Amino acid sequence: MRPVVDHEECIGCGQCEQICPEVFELREDGFAYVIKAPGEEFRAQVDEAIEECPTGAITWEE
Ligand code: SF4
Repeated sequence: MRPVVDHEECIGCGQCEQICPEVFELREDGFAYVIKAPGEEFRAQVDEAIEECPTGAITWEE
């Protein structure tokens, strides 16, 4: 499982990066990117980022 950011939905607010900078990175193009597949230790933070994303742009995918 890894999180995926839908760039059709992302508005570049940076919330996900603030919550879990080990996994999400906001780039100059204004979109968040997943920079590494999170291990168990970041699972809760990724879940929080999913909940806090204002547009629901982040989902878990197999
Ligand atoms: Fe994009 Fe959501 Fe991350 Fe904001 S929290 S940068 S909208 S993916």
